[in-house]
Amino acid sequence: MMDAEAIKRSLETSGLRCTPQRYAVMQFLMDHSGHPTAAEIYAAVNRADPRSSRATTYNNLRDLVQAGLVREVAIEGRAARFDAKGKRHHHFICDRCGNVEDLDWYDVPKPATGSLGKRVLRETELIFRGLCARCAPRRASG
Ligand SMILES: [Zn+2]
Ligand SMILES: [Zn+2]
Repeated sequence: MMDAEAIKRSLETSGLRCTPQRYAVMQFLMDHSGHPTAAEIYAAVNRADPRSSRATTYNNLRDLVQAGLVREVAIEGRAARFDAKGKRHHHFICDRCGNVEDLDWYDVPKPATGSLGKRVLRETELIFRGLCARCAPRRASG
């Protein structure tokens, strides 16, 4: 869990000024691990501080993603979800309800030598897809 000082420091070491709005976005993401959408983040930040506009919130979110502090989880056909990159983890995305859940981190093998060509690899993470516990069919026998 990151405290206020840690959030400030991580913003500054990423070259981002710690504005109240940026801090609010970061703090909301640290406190809510449920992968909110940009609209949900905006609603929460605006509730706490009605001065932050939608454009500012969305721009801050984009800056945080670019700085590597926030991860954007793209889900085809649905709004992207966001989470603070506190602890490394993989994701499980439910086919039916679109729920995004964290799975414990384990190291993923790097692609075979040569298969990347001239690409520069930044990170590797896995996305598992299927049915979450709520959507999975229940077994007849408990
Ligand atoms: Zn589900
Ligand atoms: Zn996550």
